[in-house]
Amino acid sequence: MTYDCLILGGGVIGLSIAYELAQAGARVRVIDRQQAGQEASWAGAGILPPANRQTAVHPLEQLRGLSHQLHPAWAEQLQAETGIDTGLRRCGGLYLARSSGEAASLHALAASLADVDIDMNKLAPHELGEIEPALQPLNESGQLAAAYHLPDEWQLRNPHHLQALVAACRNRGVKIDEHLEATDFVIDGGEMTGVITAAGILKADQYCLTTGAWTFSLLCRLGIQTGIMPIRGQMVLFRSRRPLFAHVLNEGPRYMVPRNDGRVIVGSTEEEVGFDKRTTDDAIQELIGLARDLVTGLQSADIEKTWAGLRPGTFDGFPYIGAVPELNNAFVAAGHFRSGLHLSPGTARVVRQLIQGESPEIDLAPFRLGRG
Ligand SMILES: Cc1cc2nc3c(=O)[nH]c(=O)nc-3n(C[C@H](O)[C@H](O)[C@H](O)COP(=O)(O)OP(=O)(O)OC[C@H]3O[C@@H](n4cnc5c(N)ncnc54)[C@H](O)[C@@H]3O)c2cc1C
Repeated sequence: MTYDCLILGGGVIGLSIAYELAQAGARVRVIDRQQAGQEASWAGAGILPPANRQTAVHPLEQLRGLSHQLHPAWAEQLQAETGIDTGLRRCGGLYLARSSGEAASLHALAASLADVDIDMNKLAPHELGEIEPALQPLNESGQLAAAYHLPDEWQLRNPHHLQALVAACRNRGVKIDEHLEATDFVIDGGEMTGVITAAGILKADQYCLTTGAWTFSLLCRLGIQTGIMPIRGQMVLFRSRRPLFAHVLNEGPRYMVPRNDGRVIVGSTEEEVGFDKRTTDDAIQELIGLARDLVTGLQSADIEKTWAGLRPGTFDGFPYIGAVPELNNAFVAAGHFRSGLHLSPGTARVVRQLIQGESPEIDLAPFRLGRG
């Protein structure tokens, strides 16, 4: 079979692009060097902070706003096509500060979100305990300097979302080849004519690199340097018999995400340690301590699992989305750092538009390869 597009990397970005292209009638193949959807996209927490497509000015905020709009429709369609509930829920987020410095950051964040019509409501102490009773002990401890409610914060159960994407892609005829690594490229003039793998040279009309934190070395093969690097994030999963709280809880860079079944994900760290996915005792103990401090009900909950994942970070915090310079049939979508789950449907939309020769609905100039 001749494929219209060969996608390298079956994380949330590659699978979302495959799904979007397949819906537009394209014949698509995805390869992943391991089981699809097992790297950063599995490891993440699935927090989707509020975004507003109508008021967003910068293309990154527009991409976030577009994605935020698309997520509910994707969840509904994926469930209809596969029967899998992706766990997308508008659970709301609470942002907490226990020092005056952190409180000042939250006040500034609230002011900047107000400018773009995103609700971030300051809570009086009695209101916090009313909307999230699990935080009443923290409230009464006198430690809180500020608390805000973001009603439009959502969560996605990312492992379920990935299962649904894989199933929906296959239902729509996408060929997903797992345990098959891309090692190099065949270039002829201004075209990519093949991808080298252990199973031989794979061919398609167009190619898209979505290899997350591993994209740097592949692009080096094409003579292109990017600022993509792995940033490790460690996580702890608690298991409680019943749900202990309802909102995503955020404090500085740390967060806690309550799943419907009583599980609670606690994260995370940001570490530059290369491709090392081991957890460390110090970080895990710190996350456990924070969680049990904020929600006392977790003191008796079991720890089911700990893990670390590698976010695809970039030097300027923007993803790389666009054409590979000097090749007229190769594209990249990688480097979504802490927001790849959130940004995936919007990224799929604009990459599909690009690949199919349409003008992308968002200006992709800030995301181009070879910038700064
Ligand atoms: C701890 C943690 C918490 C996070 N929390 C959130 C969150 O709350 N919200 C949010 O939006 N985002 C979050 N993220 C970020 C998000 O998970 C990532 O931005 C996103 O998963 C990146 O998706 P990806 O498809 O680019 O990469 P990946 O999921 O890493 O997928 C890349 C794929 O490429 C494959 N691959 C690599 N090299 C090759 C090769 N040579 N040949 C073939 N296949 C190859 C890999 O096996 C992998 O499957 C979090 C990430 C982590 C680690």
